[in-house]
Amino acid sequence: MQMQAETVWNNCLEFIKDNINDQSFKTWFSPIKPLKLNKNILTIQVPSKFFYEWLEEHYIELLKSALNKEIGKEAKLNYSIILENTYGNNQPYTVNYPSSNRPPIKNRKVSMPIELNEKGIRNPFIIPGLKKINVESQLNPSYSFENFIEGECNRLARSAGYAVANKPGGTSFNPLLIYGGVGLGKTHLAHAIGIEIKDLYPEKTVLYVAAEKFMTQYMESVRTNSQNDFIHFYQLIDTLIIDDVQFFSGKEGTQNVFFHIFNHIHQQGKQIILTSDRAPVDMQGMEQRLLSRFKWGLSADLQAPDLETRVAILNKKVLADGIQIPKEVLEYLAYSITTNIRELEGALTSLLAQSTLNKKKITLDLAKHMIDKFVRNTTREVSIDYIQKVVCDYFDLPIELLKSNTRKREIVQARQLAMFFAKQLTKSSLASIGAQCGNKDHATVLHACRTVNNLSETDKTFRGYVHDLEKKLTLD
Ligand code: ADP
Ligand code: MG
Repeated sequence: MQMQAETVWNNCLEFIKDNINDQSFKTWFSPIKPLKLNKNILTIQVPSKFFYEWLEEHYIELLKSALNKEIGKEAKLNYSIILENTYGNNQPYTVNYPSSNRPPIKNRKVSMPIELNEKGIRNPFIIPGLKKINVESQLNPSYSFENFIEGECNRLARSAGYAVANKPGGTSFNPLLIYGGVGLGKTHLAHAIGIEIKDLYPEKTVLYVAAEKFMTQYMESVRTNSQNDFIHFYQLIDTLIIDDVQFFSGKEGTQNVFFHIFNHIHQQGKQIILTSDRAPVDMQGMEQRLLSRFKWGLSADLQAPDLETRVAILNKKVLADGIQIPKEVLEYLAYSITTNIRELEGALTSLLAQSTLNKKKITLDLAKHMIDKFVRNTTREVSIDYIQKVVCDYFDLPIELLKSNTRKREIVQARQLAMFFAKQLTKSSLASIGAQCGNKDHATVLHACRTVNNLSETDKTFRGYVHDLEKKLTLD
């Protein structure tokens, strides 16, 4: 029995490994132990409740595919969760949970021309007409507006999305094109709009589809000579969300078929929502007529989140997961990871995982180690903002003063230290460091660096400051 569970699980792992990146695999799948296989139910042991929830939220589809492949369609998954002993028992104990798919957001059945998929001889007694089919919305309930933090970086896109959700097809934002770099929330926002529409207009058929999937479906329809069914199907949708349309670049057939679907949906006053990693003007390999359609509505971009938004996003996540994390750790994350929300969340998650797995407390040191590993490949450097914050916290000064013109001795000293570390730890130019530290010129920064060096040699207290700050700022 044990043997069998192990074999099945190892095969699942092979499959899973092929479908996610190494880091995630190591973090989330290596620690799992297969316990038993009872007919079609596989029980796996996971190290904590948090771990279980994470798997359920992020990898349930992947796990399902793996299990279906190994055990068949009826496959079921059970978790055995190791819990910390908190009530004076000597041993940690385990509890069992079944895998609980979140309820998908349902569409009503829609009418399809009856010949759809009817292969072979048609029964002459069937009255020609329509038959009802189910369209799964493919929306992820956790990507809601409620979970989407508003910030300067996303204000326009968010409120346009909100307007569209309230009146799908009825605003001039049709299509609504959301564009922006990786991990900035395009997919999340697109889902949020879809979810809101389903909440407000349950009778509407909403469909989310990744551009890549749309493309493969289309190619499949060409292969099986059922393009018409494909087109009919998409023309029935009330709100069509296509994620990452830049994938259509250079794909003429797909662009062509999408053009027709687009026109049909648009003409019927139904809503189209698109996302892309670049603005329409920068989309190479996209037909002109399609590009001009994209520009009919509104293109709204998502910018990299500012500090305040990053902190708010982390806080929201921590709150939702019911975890306790020291404020300084959260701030450290928010200060260090500046350009990508997915990375920000990933860092937080890895931190939680590390701390649960190794039973370590979440401290600033642990965070520094983690982040170092986590973003190693993406050439990360300490930001000037963070340096200023650490220096100001250290001397208990408000950061505005450091950025001001004040000549007060304590402030000048703090400012010089911030400049000194900015020069040491970032690749920023003297001029840009100066600009960010109270609008000074490059000569002032150079002077600050010299002063700090000199004082470190002559003044013991000052050397102490430098030493402490260095420790706080660098990844030991
Ligand atoms: P993109 O599609 O632009 O690459 P995603 O929509 O996948 O980015 O977002 C990456 C991660 O960041 C997701 O987990 C998403 O929930 C989260 N995220 C992005 N923007 C926000 C936001 N404004 N508030 C909360 N979470 C966000
Ligand atoms: Mg995306």
